[in-house]
Amino acid sequence: MEKLTMLGVGAAMVTNMYNTCFTISREDGELFLVDGGGGNGLLRQFEKAGLSVLNVHHVFVSHNHSDHILGVVWLVRAVCQHIRKERYKGNLYVYAHQKSLDALRTICRLVMQPKLNAFFDSRIIMVPVSDGAQMDILGRQTVFFDIQSVKELQHGFSCRLLNGKKLSFLGDEPFCEYERPFVEGSDYLLQEAYCLYSEKDKFRPYEKHHGTVLDSSRNAYSLKAQATLLFHTEGKTPVEERQWKYLAEAKQAFSGRVYVPNDLDTIVL
Ligand SMILES: [Zn+2]
Repeated sequence: MEKLTMLGVGAAMVTNMYNTCFTISREDGELFLVDGGGGNGLLRQFEKAGLSVLNVHHVFVSHNHSDHILGVVWLVRAVCQHIRKERYKGNLYVYAHQKSLDALRTICRLVMQPKLNAFFDSRIIMVPVSDGAQMDILGRQTVFFDIQSVKELQHGFSCRLLNGKKLSFLGDEPFCEYERPFVEGSDYLLQEAYCLYSEKDKFRPYEKHHGTVLDSSRNAYSLKAQATLLFHTEGKTPVEERQWKYLAEAKQAFSGRVYVPNDLDTIVL
C-alpha cells in the first residue's frame, strides 16, 4: 500500500505549521521525499510522523527557495551522520535542476563539517533533472517538467504509482497550460492554493504568483483529475477552520475528491 504523508502544508512564512513537503511511501517503508521545508523542523516532522530518514534514499527538490531547499540541507546532514555511524545503507539520490543542486552543495559546504561534506559524490549523489526528463524512481516511472515560473526555475513531476495510478505535483505555483500534457488525467493532482478566492483581497495571492482554492479547483476540473490535494497555504486562518472553508469553496468548481490536509495527515493512495 502506498501512502502520502504531508510533513508540512504551509507556504513560506507560516508559523503555525511546517512548510510544504511530503513523502510517498512504499509497502516496504521506503520513502520518496519531495522538498524539505525550511529547516531542522523537517527532522521533527519525520519524528512526529513516525518516519525515519534511514528510509529516504531519493529526494526531489523542486526549486531553491528557502522554504523548500533548506530542510534538505538538514536531511543531508542527518544522512551523512548516519553514514559515519554505519547506520545508513546505500546512497542518497538528490533530484533537482542543476541550479538547485549547485545551491544545495554550496550551502552544505558552507554550513556543514568537511567530514560530512566528504560524502558528496560517493554516497550523496546529485541527479540533475531537466524539462521532460524521465526516470525510474523506486519503481515508479517519473517525468519532470519545468513549471515555467517567472520567479525561480522550478520543476514539478508526474509519476505512475506502483498501484498504476497517476500522481502529479505542480510545485508551489499555479497551473499553467504548458504543464497540461504532463499532468492531464491524474488520479491525484497536488497543487498549491494559497488562500480562498473569497479572501483574495486580504491575502493578495496573485502578487506572490500564487493562486486560490477556487483557481486550483478549476484546474482540477479542467485537467480531468480524479482527486486534488491543496497545500502551500497561508497560515493566518486557524487550522481548524481552514479545512472546511477550503473544501466548501473547492466544491463550487470541482466535483471530484478534494483533500485539504494538515501537517502530518496521511492519505492512502
Ligand atoms: Zn514555496
